[in-house]
Amino acid sequence: MNERDSEAVAAQLVAEGHSITESESVADVILLNTCSVRDNAEQKAIGKMENLAAEVRKLRPELVLGFMGCMAQSRGAELLKQMPQVDLVIGTQKFHRTPEYLREIISGSRKRIVDVAEEEGSQSTIKDHLSVSAEPAVTAFVSIMQGCNQYCTFCIVPYTRGQERSRSIEEVVAECRELAERGVKEITLLGQIVTSYGKREIPVRDGRSAFVQLLDAVHEIPGLERIRFTSPHPKGYGDDLVEAYGRLPKLCECAHIPVQSGSNRILKLMHRGYTRERFVAIIEKLRAVCPQIGITTDIIVGFPGETEADFEETLSLVREMQFDNAYAFKYSQRRDTPAAAMPGQLSEEVKEARLNRLLIEVNRVVAEKYEAFVGRQTQILVEGPSKKNPARLSGRTRCNKIVVFEGTDRHLGQLMDLKITRTGSFTLYGDPAIVNMD
Ligand code: SAH
Repeated sequence: MNERDSEAVAAQLVAEGHSITESESVADVILLNTCSVRDNAEQKAIGKMENLAAEVRKLRPELVLGFMGCMAQSRGAELLKQMPQVDLVIGTQKFHRTPEYLREIISGSRKRIVDVAEEEGSQSTIKDHLSVSAEPAVTAFVSIMQGCNQYCTFCIVPYTRGQERSRSIEEVVAECRELAERGVKEITLLGQIVTSYGKREIPVRDGRSAFVQLLDAVHEIPGLERIRFTSPHPKGYGDDLVEAYGRLPKLCECAHIPVQSGSNRILKLMHRGYTRERFVAIIEKLRAVCPQIGITTDIIVGFPGETEADFEETLSLVREMQFDNAYAFKYSQRRDTPAAAMPGQLSEEVKEARLNRLLIEVNRVVAEKYEAFVGRQTQILVEGPSKKNPARLSGRTRCNKIVVFEGTDRHLGQLMDLKITRTGSFTLYGDPAIVNMD
């Protein structure tokens, strides 16, 4: 989501005549888009800003420095006070004001600007896409809503991103259509809880929720080959969404469904709104409709009051569910969230030890899942050069696994079948030459 917000701001600045530099040392403006979900993300952003002020501004005194996004939103003017080097603080509903504020700062008409107010309609302002890269984009993210109303007790997001506000189906479809016309083949629909899309604004029709109606509409777009979304909430997996996996061929067989814990006691304290049994039932239904579906999740260890027995329940859920991957986090106390004031806060040592034990379980299953692909033929969408070895190309399977192979420019943007020959860590290696040999 942050990447998408950054792209939208960059596109607006490019439209104003700015250009994107490859190096910080030649930039006139550097904006750090920030995340507040865990404390280490905030500390990293502050450290980076201090470093930019000390190193880059020394060489270029006129350099404009700014924070955008969640940390900007939650700390607001306090950031300017704490960090005299910072010129601009832009909250999560004000991304689209960036060009105007930069104009004012660069012209000298205003000095230091903070804007973290709410703005009606801001969900519709994350809409611009960059078209300046050498290779036309094959995949794109489209923001369908902003905010979150779930108020999980550990989570800062409702306070930094505001209440849920959705764009209209027509608006989202128009943006996706334009991207498809520019050659984009895969779109990922984005929101804090995408499955809550349009809940208040768009009535259920023929048993289909607003989100499923949106999937149906995006599915109609010619040229678009693949649809993904992130992140859903387990409570959003009604039968209409489960059934969509069997019905919509463009909907990729993968789902990232954050479970957070395997203990019902902890799920309740977290205010997640489902039980372990309900979560398991959803996964079982999805696997029944779509046996090859890749399921990933998020897990928090060391939530306040989590006992060894609670943690064991998370381990047993991971064994039972056989996730394709799980992103595991140590609980991080976030200010003004209910969990920060709960009794039974755990030590760093306990959290670290549980995280390591969980990762062992997760990684064992992940390795087996990757291993199972060897020898299989699979479809990938070729996205561009591999990050680790730019001489090779990289793409993703429909269930979102990265595949690296020896290819040429003519493969770029293509959907192709190849045979998986071996696995690396979180990577599959494929060979297009031995397709259809068996
Ligand atoms: N609405 C999104 C949340 C994005 S944050 C979602 O439900 O996926 C991504 C993940 O960060 C969450 O799923 C959760 O596992 C983790 N997270 C959120 N708050 C956290 C906290 N205070 N400490 C540790 N991990 C946290």
